[in-house]
Amino acid sequence: MDTFEQWMGRYLELNAHERKAILHDKMSVCTCTGCPSYNRCAREKDEKFYCFNGKSMLCISEDFGCTCKTCAVSQDLAMKYHDFCLKGSETVQRYEHELR
Ligand code: SF4
Ligand code: SF4
Repeated sequence: MDTFEQWMGRYLELNAHERKAILHDKMSVCTCTGCPSYNRCAREKDEKFYCFNGKSMLCISEDFGCTCKTCAVSQDLAMKYHDFCLKGSETVQRYEHELR
């Protein structure tokens, strides 16, 4: 199990209140709003934290670069993937790559 899988294992053992608090802390350091792909629509809809929330459903459809790899959340959890707003959450992208 890698770092992300170990973290998810511990996260899933927490209760709903604890999970919410942890995600809130992680979302507070999300740097999506400074990324070149982040747009006005996403800002107006207050979207971000796509590594957990999954794809942008309404706003982001063009890739102008992704800064996820420099984000503390990605580094702390040793995420393998990026472009989460376009390709889905870390969990989803891991699952999809396993199917290939
Ligand atoms: S990895 Fe990307 S989507 Fe996740 S918190 Fe960091 S900047 Fe936001
Ligand atoms: S997930 Fe990556 S590409 Fe999308 S807005 Fe966040 S930093 Fe930019």
